Amino acid sequence: MREAVLGAPREGGIINAPESSPMLDQYRRIKREHQNEVLFFRLGDFYEMFSDDAIEVSSLLNLTLTNRNGLPMCGVPFHAARSYIARLLRCGKKVAICEQLSEPRGRGVIERQVVEVVTPGTTVDEDYLEKGTANYLAALASTLKTLSFAYIDISTGEFNATCFPLEGGVERLRLELERLQIREIVVQESLLEESPLITAAVIGRAGLVVNRWADWLFDGGRGRDRLEQQFGTSGLRGFGLESDSPEILAAGALLDYLDDTARALIPHVRSVIVYGDSEFVGIDESSQRNLELVRNIRDGDEQYSLLEVMDETRTGMGRRFLRWRVLHPLRDTARISRRLDMVELLYRDQARLGVLRELLGKVPDLERLCSRLAMDRAHGKDMAAIKNALGLFDALEVQTRDLAGYYEDAAAASLNVEGIIRLMKLRDILEQGLAEDPPILLTEGNLIRERFYVPLDELRMLKDNGRQLLEDYLEEERQNTGILTLKIKYNRLIGYYFEVASPHLSKVPPYFIRRQGLAGGERFTTDRLAGLEADINGASDRIIDLERKLFLEIRDKAKALLLELAAAARRIAEMDTAQALARAATIRGWVRPQVDEENRLHIIEGRHPVVEVHLPPGEFIPNDTILDEQGVGFALITGPNMAGKSTYLRQTALITLMAQMGSFVPAREAQIGLVDRVYCRVGASDNLARGESTFLMEMNETAYILHTATAQSLVIMDEVGRGTGTNDGLSIAWAVSEELLEHLRCRTLFATHYHELALISHPRMANRSMEVRDQGGEIHFLRKIREGPAEDSYGIHAARLAGLPEAVLNRAERILQRLKFNERTLQSGAVPPGLAELEAPARQVSGPSPVPLDRRYAFLEDLMSLNPDRMTPVEALNRICAWKKLLSSAPKPSRSIKAIPPGPSLFDS
Ligand code: ATP
Repeated sequence: MREAVLGAPREGGIINAPESSPMLDQYRRIKREHQNEVLFFRLGDFYEMFSDDAIEVSSLLNLTLTNRNGLPMCGVPFHAARSYIARLLRCGKKVAICEQLSEPRGRGVIERQVVEVVTPGTTVDEDYLEKGTANYLAALASTLKTLSFAYIDISTGEFNATCFPLEGGVERLRLELERLQIREIVVQESLLEESPLITAAVIGRAGLVVNRWADWLFDGGRGRDRLEQQFGTSGLRGFGLESDSPEILAAGALLDYLDDTARALIPHVRSVIVYGDSEFVGIDESSQRNLELVRNIRDGDEQYSLLEVMDETRTGMGRRFLRWRVLHPLRDTARISRRLDMVELLYRDQARLGVLRELLGKVPDLERLCSRLAMDRAHGKDMAAIKNALGLFDALEVQTRDLAGYYEDAAAASLNVEGIIRLMKLRDILEQGLAEDPPILLTEGNLIRERFYVPLDELRMLKDNGRQLLEDYLEEERQNTGILTLKIKYNRLIGYYFEVASPHLSKVPPYFIRRQGLAGGERFTTDRLAGLEADINGASDRIIDLERKLFLEIRDKAKALLLELAAAARRIAEMDTAQALARAATIRGWVRPQVDEENRLHIIEGRHPVVEVHLPPGEFIPNDTILDEQGVGFALITGPNMAGKSTYLRQTALITLMAQMGSFVPAREAQIGLVDRVYCRVGASDNLARGESTFLMEMNETAYILHTATAQSLVIMDEVGRGTGTNDGLSIAWAVSEELLEHLRCRTLFATHYHELALISHPRMANRSMEVRDQGGEIHFLRKIREGPAEDSYGIHAARLAGLPEAVLNRAERILQRLKFNERTLQSGAVPPGLAELEAPARQVSGPSPVPLDRRYAFLEDLMSLNPDRMTPVEALNRICAWKKLLSSAPKPSRSIKAIPPGPSLFDS
């Protein structure tokens, strides 16, 4: 089929001569106007892509790349195009759909035109959206000192704006892009040209479409006008915006972009929420990833994430709101308590919880239906879904009257009895007017229910009973004229007619209009017969027209209640999220935390919400976390590999965040003093794509914590300093700990394998470790936190569990024994090098660069092997000279790597 189209000569041998064919000229002309989109070029039953589009798309979608006379091409069948477009949008591509507008005629080129441009951030099409995930389009602009950032989900009408200082703003930007999973962004051009950091943050980010927009399009005055026009207000104070608020730049440009570029109608966007840094817990990009809030770190899937174990929602709306809540824990105790109250009300009434879940399970996505309604895109099935949603909303309201005071969205909270009555009237209209199962297309009929509109019923009767109507009329005229042989006949030339035989012509009444003479009689029509004929013939068309008209009237009635509908959708989202958390608390044994502004964490028998769910029931060992401003605020956690340190650290952060999201938590008891930021620096991971080595990345993240953490923050540090040499790493970890203890004074859990850190002595610090039982060489991890530092790392034991070859393990054991011997020797000496330095409070090491550890070991080993009683003074002098030489010939650090000739191993025994 496709080959036939391609090979067909009817468009002037289009593909056979790529340089000059008329169709290719047409393609190139259209493509020139759509440089930034993949052009789906309709050719018969396929959409074809050519040149670079074809090369890129064939690799993204795994399509066969063909080649015609040197021109790369690939294609997809038109009837399956939507699934391919959806995949391209997920890859961060925009798609321009170019259709054939005329039928093939002779050898001329078919008329073609781009009829739609689909972009990831502006689509409202169900096929291109993910059910439980918001679909954000963002804008980014800058004033002299500020970055202005706004984002919108036109599939639901959610619209938010914020601003942050230009200096250090890139981290915030990264955070917003990551946590909101922005799909498309409009960026002020000069920002991309002048700020390499911002360019690096947006360009090349997987799945993000970046649109450059000229600077003049980001204009405060123009933005203000556009926002006022959108919301129908004069002034923006009601939204927390002054006339010169920086947020206006991005928010206004976003609406302009939707008008001009995407040509999307957004009457349902009725307000903007202006939010600040201080509203939500700050969780930077890498902490968010390390804590696996909405996706796991391994493959980016939602499985094994916090969201997975909290998500007991039953609707798309609830799921999107829950996801948003997981990424935006609050810093306001009153708001948190209100959320917790709502969850508790449902938690304490399990029977009602069951009923709610049952009802919610049937509710369609009213939020997205509202946006399609606002854009005049709601079809018959959408309207039927709105009708069902309203019926269920009514039932849900009956169940949740006591929750009315808890909704946090302003519209949801202000939906009053009158509003609900209006919605129920709409439901009645939809019930009476809409057909039971209306089609998607408005041109198919069957949209409107019977007995809703009399003229429509008559037309339908006319269509169904046309024959009967003619017969009834014939009988009438037989009676009127007394011509009992009168007949109605039909031919294509004159349509329906009465046929009167010659003997009866004298009885023909004056209103009979003569049409034709015959040998044995004559043919007549009447006005009524002509009318009936027109009615019968045109009934189908008129039915379709009338149904469409009635449908649009009903739809307009619904559209007039858009605000009420959106408020109902928001209520459903909030009640669904609350019931999901009540349900999760029920099945997972979570308790209500106490959240206050004390600077402490008291978690009794806390559990990791995700690890617990994936272990057999009862196998997770709970642990306490006690951190206090007055008492211990910094816990140094040591313990062997595999002992459960990371799990313990993360569970503390997750429990804290869950509490501030307004969720119950996995613990026996939890008192959570509000945190303003959570940092989670974990292990050694690198970001080669961003040009950062493992260690550089680790240090970048550590620097970020030290620069931005406050006394109200929670810092989780797991194995800081592991990415470099032992001494450097230990020194850094030591100094970072001191800084956190002394200056930042934030609540900190610091897990490390540097057992030397236990030597830090500070009133705010406690040594805690994961308990291990060593039974005759058999190691049992008890996963229990206890006071005091760990005695061993059991790394080789962990390596054995991981299946390292026995020979390697034996060798490692021997080396370890030797190292331990050396360490003991070091500690027995008067001046233990290394540790003495570390214990000293001085932060700056001056003097010659330190001697490498291996040489120190060699020196000490030699020293300890001597017996001075048996040495002559000359022998001793020579020995001293040899040591000096050994210790002073430390190589200068160099960035180039040279091959080192093999020599005797230091540890050969
Ligand atoms: P390493 O130092 O090698 O990173 P670790 O001490 O950080 O190890 P984790 O990674 O936290 O150890 O945990 C190791 C394993 O123990 C995990 O597979 C986890 O499922 C299990 N585990 C951790 N904590 C507990 C617990 N409290 N109860 C039961 N199992 C646990």
